[in-house]
Amino acid sequence: MPWQKQRSAYRVWLSEIMLQQTQVATVIPYFQTFIKHFPTIKSLAAAREDDVLSLWSGLGYYARARNLHKCAKSIVSFHRGRFPKNSQSLQELPGIGRSTAGAILSLAFNQPAAILDGNVKRVLCRFFAIEGWPGKTDVAKELWQLAEHLLPDGQAREYTQGLMDLGALVCTRGASPACTECPLQQGCQGLQKNLLSQLPTPKVRKELPQRSVQFLLLINEKNQLLLEKRPPTGIWGGLWNVPECTIEEDVSEYCKATYCAELSQVESLKSFRHTFSHFQLMIQPVLAKITISSHRVLDHARLSWYAIEQANGLGVPAPMKKLLGQLSKKFEDG
Ligand code: SF4
Repeated sequence: MPWQKQRSAYRVWLSEIMLQQTQVATVIPYFQTFIKHFPTIKSLAAAREDDVLSLWSGLGYYARARNLHKCAKSIVSFHRGRFPKNSQSLQELPGIGRSTAGAILSLAFNQPAAILDGNVKRVLCRFFAIEGWPGKTDVAKELWQLAEHLLPDGQAREYTQGLMDLGALVCTRGASPACTECPLQQGCQGLQKNLLSQLPTPKVRKELPQRSVQFLLLINEKNQLLLEKRPPTGIWGGLWNVPECTIEEDVSEYCKATYCAELSQVESLKSFRHTFSHFQLMIQPVLAKITISSHRVLDHARLSWYAIEQANGLGVPAPMKKLLGQLSKKFEDG
């Protein structure tokens, strides 16, 4: 993995944050681009938030990117640009929890600190045949106790890396881990009890609520798209997106009232679904030419016109990225 080369606290931290809820194969190109643009924590701290979000665009869970930036600034301002070498100080930094702190301490500083990311939870649940969803308080407590108890004296770095690699490459997700290649197969209780299809116990999923929204792809006479910077917190906080309105709204009336604008060539594009961890969003994109009869929109600090190619370089949410691709194609095809 690229983050295992030239190992440093900065690279370990960056990879750990990127790997949360995200597969290794997805993370690799993002990590490489990030390191190229921000080779040090100081360069990341000095970056504009827009540039950080732009490079994160498509990785999802954008709070991670905003916290990453805040964390870099805190380390530069309060720790002279160096990662603290104790768990408590690390966990006081934005976006760093107990497991990420453990990864930094063990992988970067070879300190005996436990980690409990998704891969490690899976290995422990299977090896010790621990039932119950690992996110449940009592199960998590048991797993942390085991993770700490198992730490060897010395060689924390090799042990932690080995455990992480085992989870990522051998004891993989799904019902068929590569047990025949696993160095732990002799003692693995999950394997002996034939429980691998049930471990780790999945979370009981509630059906996700659905919401609907219209995305307004408003194009001016210069073929530019109207984009709006979202508030810094909340879903897609700090990213650029097209204006939205409720699904019930008449788009022409909405634009007249909001932007003193007239629409023409209004076209509904194919709707699609975007799934968040806690709800599903049905997106109905509406493409239209817009003519604004006052300068009101240009005075608004959060609204701006962008050529489609320019918009592609901004921090935009994943569904918007998809729509920008469709728009580019549509314009190319005339
Ligand atoms: S034997 Fe199989 S289930 Fe047990 S730890 Fe190894 S890969 Fe995982």
